[in-house]
Amino acid sequence: MSKLIGRSDADVLLVIDVQRDFCPGGSLPVPGGDEVAPLISRLAQAFDHVVMTQDWHPPDHASFASSHPGRKPFEEIDLPYGRQILWPDHCVQGAGGADFHPALDIPHAALVLRKGHRRDIDSYSAFFENDRRTPTGLCGYLRERGFARVVLTGLALDVCVRWTAEDAKRLGFSVAVVEDACRALGLAGSTSAWNSFREIGVDRFATADIL
Ligand SMILES: [Zn+2]
Repeated sequence: MSKLIGRSDADVLLVIDVQRDFCPGGSLPVPGGDEVAPLISRLAQAFDHVVMTQDWHPPDHASFASSHPGRKPFEEIDLPYGRQILWPDHCVQGAGGADFHPALDIPHAALVLRKGHRRDIDSYSAFFENDRRTPTGLCGYLRERGFARVVLTGLALDVCVRWTAEDAKRLGFSVAVVEDACRALGLAGSTSAWNSFREIGVDRFATADIL
């Protein structure tokens, strides 16, 4: 495999939600989530183009169990746009838990895309909110910049990375996921992420393929 992946103006590294609340010690920890931060920082040095996403919710966000009296985290409810898993409060706008992990060091990232900022709707994918219709604007940005391939890293593999990879593929980008630069939350059904990727033609990279 080419070691020149990241040095192409057609390639963009997309770093999904490497934030304190998604790491051990945070309110919605992904096991081993902190381990990817230094790795992604090294990987990013091999890319001329990097975009980062940041989960960014108002304090009474509809995805929080605390916004639904009597409901507990990880239950599911029906919201106007469909089924929604209820989460512990996490990544509240301006709070420390929403900060990027301190070991994430990518000063040349050209765009930080904040998602989930509307009170009444969640956004797992970096491309669409969870109604699957409302665009975040990322597709337009990537197309206008001329990127053809999206290389994905971050948290959590089975939620936001997966939804983003599937949307990127559907939108016509070539897509790769860097396996050791992701960690999964481990929700029920998460083992099917790689099966889905294989079926739709998402490439599976390791950091060693790039560095
Ligand atoms: Zn969230």
